[in-house]
Amino acid sequence: MKTLSTETRIVQTDQGDIVFTFERKKIKNINLRIRHNGNVYVSAPKSVPKNVVDSFVISRCDYIKNAVESFAVNDIQKPEMQYVSGENVTFLGKNLRIKIVKDSNEYVNYDGIYIFIHVKRPDYYNRKKNLLNNWLNDQCNIIFDKTMREVHQKFVSYGVNYPQLKLRNMTSRWGSCLPYKGVITLNKRLIEAPKNCIEYVVYHEFCHFVHPNHSKHFYSLLQVMLPDWKESKQLLEKSVIL
Ligand SMILES: [Zn+2]
Repeated sequence: MKTLSTETRIVQTDQGDIVFTFERKKIKNINLRIRHNGNVYVSAPKSVPKNVVDSFVISRCDYIKNAVESFAVNDIQKPEMQYVSGENVTFLGKNLRIKIVKDSNEYVNYDGIYIFIHVKRPDYYNRKKNLLNNWLNDQCNIIFDKTMREVHQKFVSYGVNYPQLKLRNMTSRWGSCLPYKGVITLNKRLIEAPKNCIEYVVYHEFCHFVHPNHSKHFYSLLQVMLPDWKESKQLLEKSVIL
């Protein structure tokens, strides 16, 4: 999207001053975006006066402050996992607790509260790490594939063939697709999100098999397929910070 002009603006709010980069673009509505470093970006079409833009930012000040803080907290709270009992793993929107079990049989299972890592030597860091990562990969494959099969049903009448699922670690997106190759790639970290968020990303990618770009048609199809997609998107952005 072409940027027509850029300026830095400051507004006073109940949450203190908010500094934001304001851009004029050829778009229809006011857009608000917060980057990971805490920078706030607002874009608006020419037809929207600056005082309206400022009021918009002021009206969203709670949301902006929360988002900026959660990014900051997230950046600090990222110590290396130790793979010890009591540590948390986020799985399908829930915080599960690790329990290390000394066992001659090595495997991972979970009961909705605990993730049990059965391992011969409980002090063997790499082994525990591999066991858990392999298990999480398996879960991604099982759960994402199941979701894709369910969602695909709704796209059969559009002539969409069942695509191949690829998993990747991505730092800036939840998923991507190559409609002409029949591939959907999903971010492994989606496994941390509630199921409806995973569904939302899968619907989004499938809609690209019908409309490759983020056109009006794309969004109207998504709206028909998943009327509450906006809520799921918001929840996803709140629950898993990339
Ligand atoms: Zn897209």
